[in-house]
Amino acid sequence: MNVYERLGVTPIINASGSVTRLGGAPMPPEVLQAFTEAATQAVSIEELQAAASAKIADLTGAESGLVTAGCASALTLGAAAIIAQYDLGKMEKLPHCDDFRNEFVIAREQRSGYDHAVRASGARLVEVGCNEIVANAGVRRTEPWEYEAAFGPKTAGVVFVFGRNTVPWLGDVVERAHRHGYSVLVDAAAEVPPRSNFEVILSTGADLVCFSGGKAIRGPQSTGILCGCRDLVASAALQMLDMDEHLSMWEPPAKFIDKEKIDGLPRHGLGRGMKVSKEEIAALLTALELFSSGAYDAEVKTFRGYLETIADAVTNKPARTEILDDDDGETPPNLEVHLDEAALGRTAFEVCQSLRHGDPRVYVSHARLSSGTLVVRPGCLTADGASHVARRLAEELSR
Ligand SMILES: *Cc1c(COP(=O)(O)O)cnc(C)c1O
Repeated sequence: MNVYERLGVTPIINASGSVTRLGGAPMPPEVLQAFTEAATQAVSIEELQAAASAKIADLTGAESGLVTAGCASALTLGAAAIIAQYDLGKMEKLPHCDDFRNEFVIAREQRSGYDHAVRASGARLVEVGCNEIVANAGVRRTEPWEYEAAFGPKTAGVVFVFGRNTVPWLGDVVERAHRHGYSVLVDAAAEVPPRSNFEVILSTGADLVCFSGGKAIRGPQSTGILCGCRDLVASAALQMLDMDEHLSMWEPPAKFIDKEKIDGLPRHGLGRGMKVSKEEIAALLTALELFSSGAYDAEVKTFRGYLETIADAVTNKPARTEILDDDDGETPPNLEVHLDEAALGRTAFEVCQSLRHGDPRVYVSHARLSSGTLVVRPGCLTADGASHVARRLAEELSR
């Protein structure tokens, strides 16, 4: 009996990609091996995080880095670092910070459920900009000057959610913020691949950048990366690590946390509840090495094969299929299945739900159901899983 059988939980076929709700991406064998090896010996977490910092710096081009409990926790810690910097009194007070600078300027159109992670630090968000294109009321979106116009006596920094189509360009926003000495915190959770985005994003001069470790990087689902400016990463580390130590005996690796810059030892901070285990750190670093080496690229072709199999299975059904390739050679393609809901007599919502309830249970992406479209994201599929998706989809579209 495997562990899920013992627990009475039925595994599913994940055709939705590395979403948190479905447990994220499968970890490669090398990553699982690093996890179990790390579990057999004890290390100082501070020293392990310092080694992680050096590895993250090497692989992303950032000055320093920290393994966090997901990108969401990187956002909380990043905001806390920008608010408190090296001020121990402020660290102690967080998330209560109404009596010091705690406002982050953000484009109104970049707000999402994930900004709760930023607000959890105590930060308050100040919205700017209008997306007149989506509103069908004009031709422009948020502009760099709007960030600058919102800066004031309570400003702590800027939050920016990076995407391939984000407007304005991050570099222009960083320039406006730096003119006034403010830091920029970037949510780039799912923006690699392509690998070149590590450099593209960090070379804008953004002060802190957050990535998910459990999406395309394929580390443990519960990991993330906070990277960027050394002093801010150190502040985040101080607010996350177990700080129960004597100041006289405390020896943090100087490149990671410069003891000279700190006026004493903070107590356990805002991030103490966001701990990351030695096993998770070792596994994430192994996954980051694999990802950065291009070890996953060969699978893009395999994944396309899966999508072709699934598309072929529904050729004569009331649906039109379309494989959307990404030309970076690193990002898996997606399959869109546009249903003829009238001919089927069923909506995409109903078909999606039936797939979830079938045998085996198949979860396709529910992102475009309201346009009558099922999306198959192959990143978490095996050959076996893909043939189940093909068969179940054909069955549903024959009913
Ligand atoms: C997935 C995601 C997150 C959260 O990442 P976790 O690693 O799951 O914490 C944050 N922001 C965006 C835009 C995301 O897509």
